Amino acid sequence: MRAAVLLRPGAIELQDVPVPAPPPGGLVVRVRTALTDGTDFKAFRRGHPRMPMPTPFGHEFSGDVAAGDSNGFSAGDAVMCVHTAPCGQCYWCQRNQEELCETIMPTMILGAYAEYIAIPERIVKRNCYAKPSDLSYATAAFLEPLSCVVHSLDLLNCRADDTVLIIGDGGFGLLHAMLLRQSGATVVLAGRREARLKIARDLGIDTINARSRNIGEEVRKRTRDRGADVVIECTGREEVWEAAPDLARRGGTVSFFGGLPADAKALFTASRLHYDEIRLVSPFHFTPAAVKRARDLLVEKKIDPLPLITQTVPLAEIATVFERLKNGEGIKFAVTP
Ligand SMILES: [Zn+2]
Repeated sequence: MRAAVLLRPGAIELQDVPVPAPPPGGLVVRVRTALTDGTDFKAFRRGHPRMPMPTPFGHEFSGDVAAGDSNGFSAGDAVMCVHTAPCGQCYWCQRNQEELCETIMPTMILGAYAEYIAIPERIVKRNCYAKPSDLSYATAAFLEPLSCVVHSLDLLNCRADDTVLIIGDGGFGLLHAMLLRQSGATVVLAGRREARLKIARDLGIDTINARSRNIGEEVRKRTRDRGADVVIECTGREEVWEAAPDLARRGGTVSFFGGLPADAKALFTASRLHYDEIRLVSPFHFTPAAVKRARDLLVEKKIDPLPLITQTVPLAEIATVFERLKNGEGIKFAVTP
Protein backbone atom coordinates (compact mmCIF):
# COMPACT_ATOMS: atom_id res chain seq x y z
CA MET A 1 0.00 0.00 0.00
CA ARG A 2 0.97 3.65 -0.29
CA ALA A 3 1.65 5.48 2.96
CA ALA A 4 2.93 8.99 3.68
CA VAL A 5 6.01 9.27 5.89
CA LEU A 6 7.23 12.52 7.43
CA LEU A 7 10.99 12.09 7.05
CA ARG A 8 11.87 15.37 8.74
CA PRO A 9 10.22 18.80 8.95
CA GLY A 10 9.33 19.89 5.42
CA ALA A 11 9.83 16.46 3.79
CA ILE A 12 6.91 14.10 3.15
CA GLU A 13 7.51 10.94 1.13
CA LEU A 14 4.95 8.46 -0.19
CA GLN A 15 6.34 4.98 0.37
CA ASP A 16 5.28 1.48 -0.62
CA VAL A 17 4.86 -0.45 2.60
CA PRO A 18 3.14 -3.74 3.54
CA VAL A 19 -0.55 -3.58 4.45
CA PRO A 20 -0.59 -3.96 8.26
CA ALA A 21 -1.99 -7.08 9.91
CA PRO A 22 -4.61 -6.62 12.64
CA PRO A 23 -2.93 -6.29 16.06
CA PRO A 24 -4.12 -8.80 18.73
CA GLY A 25 -7.70 -7.80 19.53
CA GLY A 26 -7.48 -4.94 17.05
CA LEU A 27 -8.56 -4.01 13.55
CA VAL A 28 -7.17 -2.86 10.23
CA VAL A 29 -9.13 0.00 8.74
CA ARG A 30 -9.13 0.99 5.10
CA VAL A 31 -8.87 4.78 5.31
CA ARG A 32 -11.64 6.50 3.37
CA THR A 33 -10.96 10.06 4.48
CA ALA A 34 -8.02 11.54 6.39
CA LEU A 35 -7.93 15.22 7.33
CA THR A 36 -4.97 17.55 7.51
CA ASP A 37 -4.70 19.21 10.86
CA GLY A 38 -2.87 21.95 12.73
CA THR A 39 -0.81 19.45 14.74
CA ASP A 40 0.33 17.69 11.56
CA PHE A 41 1.10 21.05 10.03
CA LYS A 42 3.20 22.07 13.06
CA ALA A 43 5.11 18.77 12.82
CA PHE A 44 5.68 19.44 9.13
CA ARG A 45 6.80 23.03 9.73
CA ARG A 46 8.99 22.76 12.80
CA GLY A 47 8.92 19.20 14.19
CA HIS A 48 6.84 18.06 17.15
CA PRO A 49 7.89 17.15 20.71
CA ARG A 50 5.68 14.01 20.58
CA MET A 51 6.58 12.88 17.05
CA PRO A 52 10.15 11.61 16.54
CA MET A 53 10.98 11.41 12.82
CA PRO A 54 10.83 9.69 10.41
CA THR A 55 7.24 8.94 11.35
CA PRO A 56 4.04 7.64 9.74
CA PHE A 57 1.89 10.72 9.25
CA GLY A 58 -1.73 11.73 9.72
CA HIS A 59 -4.12 10.99 12.59
CA GLU A 60 -7.66 12.22 11.75
CA PHE A 61 -9.52 9.62 9.76
CA SER A 62 -12.54 7.43 9.17
CA GLY A 63 -12.89 4.29 7.09
CA ASP A 64 -14.05 0.71 6.77
CA VAL A 65 -12.83 -2.28 8.72
CA ALA A 66 -10.77 -4.38 6.31
CA ALA A 67 -9.56 -7.09 8.70
CA GLY A 68 -9.92 -8.14 12.32
CA ASP A 69 -12.89 -8.90 14.54
CA SER A 70 -12.99 -6.96 17.79
CA ASN A 71 -15.47 -5.41 20.19
CA GLY A 72 -18.38 -6.01 17.81
CA PHE A 73 -16.59 -4.63 14.74
CA SER A 74 -15.74 -6.82 11.77
CA ALA A 75 -14.84 -6.53 8.09
CA GLY A 76 -17.03 -4.12 6.15
CA ASP A 77 -18.13 -2.00 9.12
CA ALA A 78 -17.72 1.74 8.68
CA VAL A 79 -15.98 3.22 11.71
CA MET A 80 -14.93 6.54 13.19
CA CYS A 81 -12.21 6.55 15.81
CA VAL A 82 -9.35 8.55 17.27
CA HIS A 83 -5.66 7.67 17.36
CA THR A 84 -5.19 7.20 21.10
CA ALA A 85 -6.80 5.61 24.13
CA PRO A 86 -5.83 5.79 27.81
CA CYS A 87 -4.83 2.67 29.77
CA GLY A 88 -7.46 3.08 32.50
CA GLN A 89 -4.99 1.86 35.17
CA CYS A 90 -2.30 4.46 35.78
CA TYR A 91 -2.23 7.24 38.40
CA TRP A 92 -3.75 9.78 35.99
CA CYS A 93 -6.40 7.46 34.60
CA GLN A 94 -7.48 6.63 38.15
CA ARG A 95 -7.91 10.35 38.84
CA ASN A 96 -10.08 11.15 35.81
CA GLN A 97 -7.21 12.78 33.95
CA GLU A 98 -7.15 10.19 31.21
CA GLU A 99 -5.87 12.76 28.71
CA LEU A 100 -2.61 12.66 30.71
CA CYS A 101 -2.44 8.84 30.90
CA GLU A 102 1.23 7.91 31.13
CA THR A 103 0.98 5.67 28.08
CA ILE A 104 -1.53 7.59 25.95
CA MET A 105 1.14 9.30 23.83
CA PRO A 106 3.63 6.39 23.57
CA THR A 107 0.82 4.15 22.27
CA MET A 108 -0.78 6.59 19.82
CA ILE A 109 -1.10 5.48 16.22
CA LEU A 110 -0.05 7.69 13.33
CA GLY A 111 -0.28 6.94 9.63
CA ALA A 112 -3.77 7.99 8.51
CA TYR A 113 -2.36 9.37 5.24
CA ALA A 114 -2.22 5.81 3.97
CA GLU A 115 -4.49 3.23 2.41
CA TYR A 116 -4.75 1.20 5.62
CA ILE A 117 -4.11 1.78 9.31
CA ALA A 118 -3.93 -0.74 12.18
CA ILE A 119 -6.04 0.04 15.26
CA PRO A 120 -4.88 -1.60 18.52
CA GLU A 121 -7.35 -3.26 20.86
CA ARG A 122 -7.21 -0.49 23.44
CA ILE A 123 -8.42 2.10 20.92
CA VAL A 124 -11.07 -0.24 19.53
CA LYS A 125 -12.40 -0.76 23.06
CA ARG A 126 -12.37 2.84 24.28
CA ASN A 127 -12.48 5.24 21.35
CA CYS A 128 -13.95 3.58 18.27
CA TYR A 129 -17.55 4.00 17.06
CA ALA A 130 -19.70 2.74 14.22
CA LYS A 131 -20.12 5.38 11.53
CA PRO A 132 -23.79 5.71 10.59
CA SER A 133 -24.37 5.43 6.83
CA ASP A 134 -25.94 8.91 6.67
CA LEU A 135 -22.76 10.51 8.04
CA SER A 136 -20.07 11.20 5.45
CA TYR A 137 -16.56 9.82 5.96
CA ALA A 138 -15.28 13.40 5.88
CA THR A 139 -17.61 14.49 8.69
CA ALA A 140 -16.76 11.35 10.68
CA ALA A 141 -13.05 12.14 10.35
CA PHE A 142 -13.65 15.25 12.47
CA LEU A 143 -14.11 13.02 15.53
CA GLU A 144 -10.52 13.56 16.71
CA PRO A 145 -10.22 17.36 16.37
CA LEU A 146 -13.72 17.82 17.76
CA SER A 147 -12.78 15.64 20.77
CA CYS A 148 -9.89 18.02 21.48
CA VAL A 149 -12.27 20.98 21.38
CA VAL A 150 -14.89 19.28 23.56
CA HIS A 151 -12.18 18.56 26.15
CA SER A 152 -10.87 22.12 25.86
CA LEU A 153 -14.31 23.54 26.62
CA ASP A 154 -14.73 21.06 29.50
CA LEU A 155 -11.83 22.78 31.25
CA LEU A 156 -13.42 26.20 30.76
CA ASN A 157 -17.06 25.80 31.81
CA CYS A 158 -18.06 28.89 29.83
CA ARG A 159 -21.29 30.61 30.78
CA ALA A 160 -24.00 31.55 28.28
CA ASP A 161 -23.41 35.24 29.05
CA ASP A 162 -19.64 35.06 28.49
CA THR A 163 -17.89 36.95 25.73
CA VAL A 164 -15.25 34.54 24.46
CA LEU A 165 -12.34 35.73 22.35
CA ILE A 166 -10.79 33.02 20.21
CA ILE A 167 -7.43 33.88 18.70
CA GLY A 168 -6.57 31.85 15.61
CA ASP A 169 -8.61 31.27 12.47
CA GLY A 170 -7.44 27.72 11.72
CA GLY A 171 -9.55 24.58 12.05
CA PHE A 172 -9.30 24.52 15.84
CA GLY A 173 -10.23 28.19 16.24
CA LEU A 174 -13.24 27.70 13.98
CA LEU A 175 -14.34 24.48 15.71
CA HIS A 176 -14.14 26.22 19.09
CA ALA A 177 -16.26 29.07 17.70
CA MET A 178 -18.87 26.71 16.21
CA LEU A 179 -19.19 24.73 19.43
CA LEU A 180 -19.21 27.71 21.78
CA ARG A 181 -21.96 29.44 19.88
CA GLN A 182 -24.21 26.51 20.67
CA SER A 183 -23.74 27.20 24.38
CA GLY A 184 -25.10 30.69 23.80
CA ALA A 185 -21.81 32.47 24.50
CA THR A 186 -20.91 35.59 22.51
CA VAL A 187 -17.99 34.53 20.34
CA VAL A 188 -15.41 36.76 18.68
CA LEU A 189 -12.83 35.13 16.43
CA ALA A 190 -9.58 37.00 15.73
CA GLY A 191 -7.29 35.97 12.90
CA ARG A 192 -5.11 37.22 10.10
CA ARG A 193 -6.46 35.35 7.06
CA GLU A 194 -9.44 37.06 5.45
CA ALA A 195 -10.57 33.91 3.59
CA ARG A 196 -10.78 31.98 6.86
CA LEU A 197 -12.49 34.84 8.69
CA LYS A 198 -15.07 34.97 5.93
CA ILE A 199 -15.96 31.32 6.59
CA ALA A 200 -16.52 32.25 10.23
CA ARG A 201 -18.69 35.22 9.29
CA ASP A 202 -20.70 33.04 6.91
CA LEU A 203 -21.43 30.86 9.96
CA GLY A 204 -22.64 33.95 11.80
CA ILE A 205 -19.51 34.43 13.92
CA ASP A 206 -18.20 37.91 14.72
CA THR A 207 -14.58 38.33 13.55
CA ILE A 208 -11.61 40.66 14.00
CA ASN A 209 -8.99 40.89 11.28
CA ALA A 210 -5.80 41.27 13.32
CA ARG A 211 -3.91 42.62 10.31
CA SER A 212 -6.02 45.76 10.15
CA ARG A 213 -7.46 46.01 13.67
CA ASN A 214 -6.07 46.01 17.20
CA ILE A 215 -7.54 42.95 18.95
CA GLY A 216 -7.43 44.58 22.41
CA GLU A 217 -9.31 47.69 21.27
CA GLU A 218 -11.89 45.63 19.40
CA VAL A 219 -12.49 43.38 22.42
CA ARG A 220 -12.82 46.32 24.82
CA LYS A 221 -15.31 47.92 22.42
CA ARG A 222 -17.44 44.79 22.64
CA THR A 223 -17.19 44.38 26.42
CA ARG A 224 -17.69 47.90 27.85
CA ASP A 225 -13.94 48.16 28.26
CA ARG A 226 -13.70 45.09 30.52
CA GLY A 227 -11.90 42.64 28.26
CA ALA A 228 -13.03 39.15 27.33
CA ASP A 229 -14.45 36.80 29.96
CA VAL A 230 -12.51 34.00 28.31
CA VAL A 231 -9.60 34.10 25.86
CA ILE A 232 -8.73 30.92 23.94
CA GLU A 233 -5.32 30.84 22.27
CA CYS A 234 -5.49 28.66 19.15
CA THR A 235 -2.38 29.76 17.25
CA GLY A 236 0.46 28.02 19.10
CA ARG A 237 2.64 31.13 18.84
CA GLU A 238 4.69 32.46 21.75
CA GLU A 239 3.83 36.10 21.14
CA VAL A 240 0.11 35.29 21.17
CA TRP A 241 0.48 33.28 24.40
CA GLU A 242 2.20 36.26 25.97
CA ALA A 243 -0.42 38.75 24.72
CA ALA A 244 -3.44 36.65 25.72
CA PRO A 245 -3.71 37.55 29.46
CA ASP A 246 -3.98 41.26 28.64
CA LEU A 247 -7.05 40.58 26.51
CA ALA A 248 -8.95 38.98 29.42
CA ARG A 249 -11.04 40.93 31.93
CA ARG A 250 -10.22 41.04 35.63
CA GLY A 251 -11.14 37.61 36.93
CA GLY A 252 -11.18 36.22 33.41
CA THR A 253 -9.78 32.97 32.07
CA VAL A 254 -7.08 32.37 29.49
CA SER A 255 -6.84 29.00 27.79
CA PHE A 256 -3.66 27.99 25.98
CA PHE A 257 -4.99 25.48 23.48
CA GLY A 258 -2.23 25.84 20.88
CA GLY A 259 0.91 24.03 22.06
CA LEU A 260 4.36 25.62 21.63
CA PRO A 261 7.65 23.98 20.58
CA ALA A 262 9.38 21.83 23.23
CA ASP A 263 11.88 24.49 24.36
CA ALA A 264 9.52 27.50 24.20
CA LYS A 265 9.02 29.83 27.15
CA ALA A 266 6.35 32.48 27.62
CA LEU A 267 6.64 35.58 29.83
CA PHE A 268 3.68 37.03 31.71
CA THR A 269 3.24 40.07 33.91
CA ALA A 270 2.89 38.54 37.36
CA SER A 271 0.92 41.41 38.87
CA ARG A 272 -1.72 41.11 36.13
CA LEU A 273 -2.13 37.40 36.79
CA HIS A 274 -2.27 37.77 40.57
CA TYR A 275 -4.04 41.04 41.33
CA ASP A 276 -6.51 40.66 38.49
CA GLU A 277 -6.93 36.96 39.30
CA ILE A 278 -6.47 35.70 35.75
CA ARG A 279 -7.03 31.97 35.59
CA LEU A 280 -4.75 30.07 33.19
CA VAL A 281 -5.67 26.67 31.77
CA SER A 282 -3.85 24.58 29.17
CA PRO A 283 -6.09 21.88 27.73
CA PHE A 284 -4.24 18.95 26.22
CA HIS A 285 -5.69 16.11 24.15
CA PHE A 286 -8.98 14.52 25.31
CA THR A 287 -10.70 11.89 27.42
CA PRO A 288 -12.90 9.01 26.17
CA ALA A 289 -15.88 10.94 27.56
CA ALA A 290 -14.98 13.87 25.29
CA VAL A 291 -14.67 11.51 22.30
CA LYS A 292 -18.12 10.12 23.08
CA ARG A 293 -19.65 13.61 23.21
CA ALA A 294 -17.86 14.64 20.00
CA ARG A 295 -19.27 11.52 18.38
CA ASP A 296 -22.78 12.45 19.56
CA LEU A 297 -22.43 16.00 18.21
CA LEU A 298 -21.46 14.66 14.77
CA VAL A 299 -23.90 11.75 14.62
CA GLU A 300 -26.81 13.89 15.87
CA LYS A 301 -25.77 16.54 13.33
CA LYS A 302 -25.52 19.22 16.01
CA ILE A 303 -22.39 20.49 14.33
CA ASP A 304 -21.53 20.51 10.63
CA PRO A 305 -17.76 20.83 10.23
CA LEU A 306 -17.69 20.43 6.43
CA PRO A 307 -17.31 24.18 5.73
CA LEU A 308 -13.80 23.80 7.19
CA ILE A 309 -12.72 21.48 4.36
CA THR A 310 -11.00 23.47 1.65
CA GLN A 311 -10.69 20.69 -0.91
CA THR A 312 -10.72 16.90 -1.28
CA VAL A 313 -7.52 15.51 -2.79
CA PRO A 314 -6.01 12.08 -3.56
CA LEU A 315 -3.22 10.69 -1.36
CA ALA A 316 -0.71 11.29 -4.17
CA GLU A 317 -1.08 15.04 -3.51
CA ILE A 318 -0.25 14.90 0.20
CA ALA A 319 3.13 16.65 -0.10
CA THR A 320 1.63 19.36 -2.32
CA VAL A 321 -1.17 19.90 0.17
CA PHE A 322 1.28 20.64 3.00
CA GLU A 323 3.16 23.06 0.74
CA ARG A 324 -0.16 24.77 0.04
CA LEU A 325 -0.89 24.97 3.77
CA LYS A 326 2.59 26.44 4.28
CA ASN A 327 1.73 29.10 1.72
CA GLY A 328 -1.29 30.04 3.79
CA GLU A 329 -3.81 28.34 1.55
CA GLY A 330 -6.95 26.69 2.90
CA ILE A 331 -7.93 25.38 6.35
CA LYS A 332 -8.24 21.59 6.25
CA PHE A 333 -7.83 19.27 3.29
CA ALA A 334 -9.64 15.93 3.02
CA VAL A 335 -7.32 13.21 1.70
CA THR A 336 -8.98 10.17 0.14
CA PRO A 337 -6.48 7.28 -0.19
ZN1 LIG B 1 -3.36 5.56 32.00
